[in-house]
Amino acid sequence: MTRKYMAEPFKIKVVEPIAMTTREQREEAIKRAGYNTFLLRSKECYIDLLTDSGTTAMSDNQWAGMMLGDEAYAGSVNFYQLEGAVQDLYGFKHVVPTHQGRGAENLLSQIAIKPGDYVPGNMYFTTTRAHQELNGANFVDIIIDEAHDSASEHPFKGNVDLNKVKALIEKVGAEKIAYICLAVTVNLAGGQPVSMQNMKELRALTQPLGIKIMFDATRCVENAFFIKEREAAYADKSIREIVKEMFSYGDGATMSGKKDCLVNIGGFLAMNDDMLYQKATQLVVLYEGMPSYGGLAGRDMEAMARGMYESVDYYYIKHRVEQVRYLGERLEEAGVPIVKPIGGHAVFLDARRFLPHIDQDQFPAQALAANLYVEGGVRSMERGIISAGRDKQGNNYHPKLELVRLTIPRRVYTYAHMDVVADSVIELYKQRDSIKGLEMIYEPPVLRFFTARFQPLV
Ligand SMILES: *Cc1c(COP(=O)(O)O)cnc(C)c1O
Repeated sequence: MTRKYMAEPFKIKVVEPIAMTTREQREEAIKRAGYNTFLLRSKECYIDLLTDSGTTAMSDNQWAGMMLGDEAYAGSVNFYQLEGAVQDLYGFKHVVPTHQGRGAENLLSQIAIKPGDYVPGNMYFTTTRAHQELNGANFVDIIIDEAHDSASEHPFKGNVDLNKVKALIEKVGAEKIAYICLAVTVNLAGGQPVSMQNMKELRALTQPLGIKIMFDATRCVENAFFIKEREAAYADKSIREIVKEMFSYGDGATMSGKKDCLVNIGGFLAMNDDMLYQKATQLVVLYEGMPSYGGLAGRDMEAMARGMYESVDYYYIKHRVEQVRYLGERLEEAGVPIVKPIGGHAVFLDARRFLPHIDQDQFPAQALAANLYVEGGVRSMERGIISAGRDKQGNNYHPKLELVRLTIPRRVYTYAHMDVVADSVIELYKQRDSIKGLEMIYEPPVLRFFTARFQPLV
């Protein structure tokens, strides 16, 4: 069947041929990769939906900006372009560039967390929580319960449950809360947005107590698009206005430029507080570089600044979110269990419902990702028990959500590619009873999902 969609608001100037592989080649490749899609070579993948991180196609305008890289050690022109873009579009006063988002997380966690502090967050993100915990923080999940239910149709499943915040404040005291980490959108909940109303209320609750809100701003433009679509008061506001208002309810942000800033590498830490900024500039020289380049070349900062302006274009973001939705709706029509509502950057397959015969300790999402690769050459990733890792006592977290993420790179694939992905998943769903669980045969101590190895259970 055909469905209506918004065609690409761009045309293609450069093409990259992609590998066509046989089923036999893919069976060989996934075995060699230890049934972990992270360990496949990109040349072995036909459609690579591992991540939307750094996989963006840059525009001709960004590439032109790359030629204007001012590779001075200090005070590069491009740093001021980036700083200006952050001030103009996001409204934060200070900017420290970092090599990517986790570089900013490292700096923020070190300067803002004291051992024994609490960092509440609307669900966790892998590297974000790892940095917080490395600096002695206790992570507390304050997302609404609906976020943990893959079938809930709540329009803002990324929202913070204010009662959970109040309960934490009562239990530990405001002074033990380093800051609230507010992710927009929430990656691990399925790319789910936070409403403007919720941000306002969180701000009203925490500001009088002196508790800071630090955004994980990674997908802020996608969040803004959902606000425009779903929050009546914002229907006539521009994406740019919405983004700016969102950040007015916080004190700073960590940013992975590899997502909504439309670049292949880069990130930054932004904040309003002068003292915190001073601390960040002291630390950045140890881990990244001078405060005016932070691990990036001048050309990278220029591309990021230009990407930020392109990202708030209405037609860009509308196409982006709707292309993801198209894939999700095709799967839904075929009865494939996915996380609802369909998020901003990815479609998440619900491996619990897809493979009810596989116990969570036999890694159903990992098994599904491996099988999808063999089926259609489509690379996806596990977001379930393996990604969740182990607690401080060494026990596996058992997250409610056991998902496979099909992440759509920005401006890279066409609707025809989305159809190939949908057809492969639907085919696999028909044969789901034949899919077997996995056994983990190598487990690294941290962020195990990147390099763990598996073998199929017989
Ligand atoms: C990617 C990501 C990060 C980390 O950013 P990197 O650029 O990969 O280091 C942090 N938070 C979220 C929600 C992300 O998706």
